[in-house]
Amino acid sequence: MDREVILPREREPSLRIEDFGEVVSCYTEEEAIREASRCLQCKEPLCINSCPVNIDIKKFIAQIKKRDYKGAYFTIREKNNFPSICGRVCPAEYRCRKSCVLTKKDDTFADKKAIQINFLERFIGDYGVRNNLEATSLKDERLSKFKVAVVGSGPAGLSVAGELARYGVKVVIFETLHKPGGVLRYGIPPFRLPEEILDGEIDYLKKIGVKIICSFIVGRTKTLEELFNEGFSAIFLGVGAGVPSLLGIKGENLSNVYSANEFLTRVNLMKAYRFPDYHTPINIGRRIIVIGGGNTAMDAARVAIRLQVMNKITPSVSVFYRRTEKEMPARRLEIEHAKEEGVKFNFLVQPKEFIGDKDGFVKRAVFLKCRLGEEDSSGRRRPVVIKDSDFIEDCDLIIVAIGLKPNQVVTKSVLGKLDINKEGEIIVNPNTMETTFRGVFAGGDIVGGEGTVIEAMGMGKRASRGIISYLLSCGEKFSP
Ligand code: FAD
Repeated sequence: MDREVILPREREPSLRIEDFGEVVSCYTEEEAIREASRCLQCKEPLCINSCPVNIDIKKFIAQIKKRDYKGAYFTIREKNNFPSICGRVCPAEYRCRKSCVLTKKDDTFADKKAIQINFLERFIGDYGVRNNLEATSLKDERLSKFKVAVVGSGPAGLSVAGELARYGVKVVIFETLHKPGGVLRYGIPPFRLPEEILDGEIDYLKKIGVKIICSFIVGRTKTLEELFNEGFSAIFLGVGAGVPSLLGIKGENLSNVYSANEFLTRVNLMKAYRFPDYHTPINIGRRIIVIGGGNTAMDAARVAIRLQVMNKITPSVSVFYRRTEKEMPARRLEIEHAKEEGVKFNFLVQPKEFIGDKDGFVKRAVFLKCRLGEEDSSGRRRPVVIKDSDFIEDCDLIIVAIGLKPNQVVTKSVLGKLDINKEGEIIVNPNTMETTFRGVFAGGDIVGGEGTVIEAMGMGKRASRGIISYLLSCGEKFSP
């Protein structure tokens, strides 16, 4: 049997940094079958348990091998509404692929012998999009009289909306930004998740009856109480964690110091990379510093290097991270891609101060060197600053990507009715995702803190079941 791992084709780094086109290609049919054929079909597959939504990975891979792509699509759809999205962005190297028995156990970075489950999922997801495969309708007449408001159109909100619509519930999504998708639209750049894939999934939701109202801030434009008074029987909050954490150091307010969310939103959502076709310019530095080690930092660095190349500036983007590469929370694939594209990495360093010119534009960054100390609560070794280790780096643009906090516009508008924890995350019953405010459910990053797309979708799916039980149990009370 062919045991050679089949990796998807990728565009040449020197070419791909000239545009925002997708980097990784989809498997061809032949490649997908060869890769699926490597699966050992374990009696007790570990991969399924390590998937946050327990997709029957063994089954869909066996279906690919038999060329039953439609069957494979519906196997995945039982647990995951958006395989073409998750197949592109899921951190499989830390989840299903890591637990694949073919993974070499002694090297944390080398899961390259594992079955490439995420790329097989993408192959099937794209097949579903291309062939307009629709999940079976589960229409229940008892539910068709209900209207549910979904606040936020990120993966959690989209997942709830899709599930409820399948059961015949009328769903309206309210979204603050002018386009739906949440982080999938404004955070993850199109070279990782092309817009047409996201648009295809959103169009499908519209086709099954989901209404989407953009430029609408729940908590400001209308309160939760007002939505209930307008006839919504239940509300789902999927408002995410979109508020950037700040460093709190001198010089952070200088011009050309961006939070990564602001930078990425301007480029991805507002299309600054297509200026002047789109009227959203952005300052592009000659020496760009990115601070952080997560997915957001990698996306910011890879976007920044593309902007430099597209504007004929010699690329110079450097990531500064306070731990070592081993502790970086970013996906391995993104780190490798960033390196291939010319992003430089500096480990065990922490910013101390930013220094500007007389006009208030950032010109230099002062860093301190660190060493690794004891493990912290996340299980990673804590960075410890080395005294008097200051050094200076010249720069003219800094992007800060050190984490995100919950968005509290909604929660603050109903203080006292909705319990939140000290981090500002909404407290829910983990089985039903119901909050302490009757009829209000929540999921995604606003519940679990910064997480992943598949986790947000999983919570959305659980919440949809909670909402359906709630609607059925309160049918009389809420009948219009
Ligand atoms: P979000 O995606 O944040 O969506 C929330 C939506 O709610 C937003 O559109 C927001 O505008 C809207 N909203 C907020 N308040 C209101 C309001 N009051 N009224 C109306 N609408 C409101 N995860 C992965 O698995 N793989 C990756 O590769 C990956 N890369 C990432 C890259 C970046 C740059 C970032 C920031 C995150 C990344 N993540 C990744 C994490 C992942 O995207 C999130 O965990 C996920 O998007 C959370 O989904 P959500 O639906 O809870 O929230």
